[in-house]
Amino acid sequence: MNEPVPVAEGDCLSQAFVLNRKDLGQLIERLKRTYERVYLPVGDAFREAGSIEGISFTGARALFGPKKYFFPPRESLFRFTKEGNIEDLLKEEKGAVIGARVCDLKALEVLDKYFGELPEPFYLTRKEGTFVAGATCTEPHQSCFCVQFGGLSTEGLKYDLWFTDFGDVILVETGSARGEEVVKDLDLLNAPKELLYRKERIIERVEREQGFRRINDKKIFDWFSEEVTHEIWERLAEECYACGKCNMICPTCHCFDVVDMTDLEGSGERVRIWDACHLFRYGLVASGHNFRGERLARAQYRIYDKFYYPYERYGIFACVGCGRCFEACSADIDLRDVLKVAGGEGS
Ligand code: SF4
Ligand code: SF4
Repeated sequence: MNEPVPVAEGDCLSQAFVLNRKDLGQLIERLKRTYERVYLPVGDAFREAGSIEGISFTGARALFGPKKYFFPPRESLFRFTKEGNIEDLLKEEKGAVIGARVCDLKALEVLDKYFGELPEPFYLTRKEGTFVAGATCTEPHQSCFCVQFGGLSTEGLKYDLWFTDFGDVILVETGSARGEEVVKDLDLLNAPKELLYRKERIIERVEREQGFRRINDKKIFDWFSEEVTHEIWERLAEECYACGKCNMICPTCHCFDVVDMTDLEGSGERVRIWDACHLFRYGLVASGHNFRGERLARAQYRIYDKFYYPYERYGIFACVGCGRCFEACSADIDLRDVLKVAGGEGS
């Protein structure tokens, strides 16, 4: 994995380049010149880039993905004064997210559908201005089951650069004019074909080690259409603590509440904060009625909102098989077990 890769003349790929690990800092510095903030995976979360010490794009997705950069847990929308003046807080931001995985980018495509339909300007503006560099997973996490949703293929995904980390060298593939510009500035050498073959072997191995097959989307959707009263929903409701951790960590969950934070004189700001359909207050309205007061209704809704409603609305699932929800769940509720009952594959 760590041996240097020779570049044979006449055997190179024009859209793929080689970055020596020691030059990773230069790439980050180059991005910082154009993009105000650069986020990358450090340990179990995406964080703002500091030192490049220990930075690697190997392994699997981070537990806490890059969603919070595009859709922050708390965001001020506008300020108001008691006199009625409004200050819109929407502004153009140029950031960079590097090291996102296939599941992270597929999840952003799900968010694009929801926020694009509204349309929601904060998310869409940030998405437009963000440079994205993805990375190939080199090991599956034990919770990963993305193979059931198409696996590690990047076909059709939008990105500026794509990394495959071989240790001493990183294969850098371009996906946009923005990406090409960065590569040109760094004066990177074209990659030998061999690196691409090695990348394909990694993908085959990671998919094989997950041990799943692609599911039949229509079959899963039909099961959800017919099994609203299946006994599994009662079982889930009994086991679930309704804590909402699975919602908060899911890269496709996008529910939010909007509250006005005012001072005693009536000035303040309107703030958007993440909400979670598992929480009791989620369906509570001012009259005191709760549209999803029963835990069963909430536990079932979360999963229907992954495999039924988005398919009915957009023809897609809002689950990308990242496994974060059950890695975080204190009640050990494994979504793959529900999927298995529905005709997919279990844990
Ligand atoms: S994390 Fe687990 S226990 Fe908490 S709401 Fe989700 S499924 Fe229920
Ligand atoms: S439902 Fe679970 S496995 Fe699916 S995308 Fe959300 S966190 Fe990942």
